[in-house]
Amino acid sequence: MGSHRLSREAIPVLDLNREIRELKPQILQAVEEVLDTGVFIMGEQVRQLEREIADELGAGYAVALNSGTDALMIALLAAGIGAGDEVITTPFTFFATAEAISRVQAVPVFVDVDPDTFNLDVRQLEQAVTARTKAVIPVHLFGLPADMSGVMEAAEAHGLLVIEDAAQAFGAEYQGRKAGTIGHIGCFSFFPSKNLGAYGDGGMLVTSDAGLAGKARMLRAHGSIKKYYNELIGLNSRLDEIQAAILRVKLPYAAEWNERRRRAAALYGKLLGEIPGLVCPVESAGAKHVYHQYTIRVMDGRRDGLQAALEETGIGTAVYYPVPVHRLPVYADMGVQLPAAEQLSREVLSLPIGPYLDAETQLFIAGKIAEYLR
Ligand SMILES: *Cc1c(COP(=O)(O)O)cnc(C)c1O
Repeated sequence: MGSHRLSREAIPVLDLNREIRELKPQILQAVEEVLDTGVFIMGEQVRQLEREIADELGAGYAVALNSGTDALMIALLAAGIGAGDEVITTPFTFFATAEAISRVQAVPVFVDVDPDTFNLDVRQLEQAVTARTKAVIPVHLFGLPADMSGVMEAAEAHGLLVIEDAAQAFGAEYQGRKAGTIGHIGCFSFFPSKNLGAYGDGGMLVTSDAGLAGKARMLRAHGSIKKYYNELIGLNSRLDEIQAAILRVKLPYAAEWNERRRRAAALYGKLLGEIPGLVCPVESAGAKHVYHQYTIRVMDGRRDGLQAALEETGIGTAVYYPVPVHRLPVYADMGVQLPAAEQLSREVLSLPIGPYLDAETQLFIAGKIAEYLR
């Protein structure tokens, strides 16, 4: 005993090796085609990717950008949100959600989350609305759509713009519609670890509003439609042709990969569901979860111990997120207290998940979890 680490390979929390091995010939061919065209910025690959993703999601317009962070920032800029404006969002997210709000000089207003879904608690949303509130950014955390009917209802009542942070939710659905297409603007990230990831940075904004799409297109290219006839203060946030070509190879697999993630999640649910002191993720009504992460809650202060014990046996896990955004140094002075997000940051543990995770590995992981929590 005690030699498990030697008897099987380490299990990383995220494993891209299988995918890369299988797609390598297609990827190399796609990259080679770009090299042969000699067009590296704003060419046919980006245009085709935008069309294909708009079709896939059922969005009117798609604007390729160089990251999910820029997608959020450009969405805010395109909507004219800036100094003096407030934007409501969740504290239980990756920093970039709030960072984009602050970057455009607006103020993030954090509303606590529903501990069952990890997403913005819409019952607390209306209380946060003031005369300065311009927008709300729900995040579909870990691939589970937020309560978008609640969000849209509150937004309509107060005339707010809804920007969905769908960085972790490519292909997720809410009441039959794709995440990112329910609000006014949807933002995606193609960071390599996301459900649809490039092999470098990338992002996209989708909308059905022609005006917002046009503005975003200008903003990403120095505020210009026609080169050297700049009309706005924009930035440089274009997606590379090579990354667009890689994403076009991967896009046809995205739906099947999400289905495989869902099957792996269902198996985890069976294997872990009965273990006391542990809460498995739920799929809320009307939502289709795409399990960017499979995140359990470990109760009774045992999370860090479990993580260390799993690490000992070569099982990688991750804590998303150990500090809720409102407690990070740049926002801590606001002094807000959001008990659900704070409690979750002490309880959450993300287990290995991905399209190529096999049942035997999941059984091994579940066995080790049960052994520790018993
Ligand atoms: C990844 C992520 C982002 C940022 O995307 P980048 O492409 O890394 O800039 C924003 N919000 C959430 C919720 C994310 O997970």
